[in-house]
Amino acid sequence: MREVQGPTARAGEERYDAIVVGSGLGGLVSAAYLAADGRRVLVLEQHDVAGGNAHVFRRRRKYEFDVGTHYIGDCGPNGIFPAILSGLGVRDRVTFRPMDNEQGFDRIITPTATLDVPAGWDAYRDRLRAALPEEAEGVDRFVHIARTVSGATRESLVGHHMVELFREQPDTMRWARRSRSLAEALDHCGLSPKARTLVAAQAGNYGTMPDGITFAEHAAMLDHYMRGAYYPEGGGQMLVAAFVEALESYGGELRTRCEVRRILIEQGHATGVELADGTRISAPLVISNADYRRTVLDLCGGEQ
Ligand SMILES: Cc1cc2nc3c(=O)[nH]c(=O)nc-3n(C[C@H](O)[C@H](O)[C@H](O)COP(=O)(O)OP(=O)(O)OC[C@H]3O[C@@H](n4cnc5c(N)ncnc54)[C@H](O)[C@@H]3O)c2cc1C
Repeated sequence: MREVQGPTARAGEERYDAIVVGSGLGGLVSAAYLAADGRRVLVLEQHDVAGGNAHVFRRRRKYEFDVGTHYIGDCGPNGIFPAILSGLGVRDRVTFRPMDNEQGFDRIITPTATLDVPAGWDAYRDRLRAALPEEAEGVDRFVHIARTVSGATRESLVGHHMVELFREQPDTMRWARRSRSLAEALDHCGLSPKARTLVAAQAGNYGTMPDGITFAEHAAMLDHYMRGAYYPEGGGQMLVAAFVEALESYGGELRTRCEVRRILIEQGHATGVELADGTRISAPLVISNADYRRTVLDLCGGEQ
């Protein structure tokens, strides 16, 4: 939501500089950085624990289930996740253990081939070539555009501009456009059904078929793991704990069992939230970590 000078809180209404709806990793990172920036931040989570898909639950005091953390990419010395933790002063709270990045961190088994996926674009290309000796040219073309487009995406994540790349490699960079699907890129590279299956198999990470995802998104996912796959020692909850610690150490607040029923909007601007029990809390900035559909249709109301 766009930030505006919000209205003054009504009598008895709590007021914050920013409210974050949901304590998934996205919500917690936003909240912790806003708190580090000196804002009064409140995170509201409907569940009884923080973390969303990254939380861990236990059964019979015996089994531990890590809901959504199987592996995280790009956690080496210059990795994105370590950088996010460092910026908040909690880098030392999480130890990332590398998976078998040489032999393969993923094993793809299809009726016609098996592929162990290693880290590193060159190693990945060589492994694909070995599995698909007749399709070396198509494999090379696919890896080249995936590497270029995803490299540019990551550069933009760390604050660099992609303009030069668009100028230097316009043919390759057209695959960065949101209108280009993974299916189109597979066609463009002339890959066989066998090759397409191997290349697209890691779609399980985002759960969409090749015609339902942009090429740039698939390439970004691949690139993430090409930079090495890791597991946080202690499980996904360690990440959650680190971000909550950072949030609270900068004066932010997290409340669980607090379902937001509505994001309050006046004249097109968010002014706060209403909880399921009717309590209203005001803030000139509301960030929703709930999924997009739910945010737009339920929390904001379709009419907004
Ligand atoms: C089975 C599974 C396996 C996965 N494996 C991996 C993996 O190996 N590696 C990897 O990198 N990623 C993996 N992911 C994806 C990763 O877990 C998610 O991308 C990430 O945790 C999502 O974080 P998020 O902040 O976007 O949102 P979420 O985790 O969805 O958090 C949203 C939060 O908002 C809360 N919320 C929603 N509505 C309201 C409301 N009205 N009021 C208050 N609170 C509300 C929810 O309760 C939730 O806590 C996996 C996901 C799943 C489901």
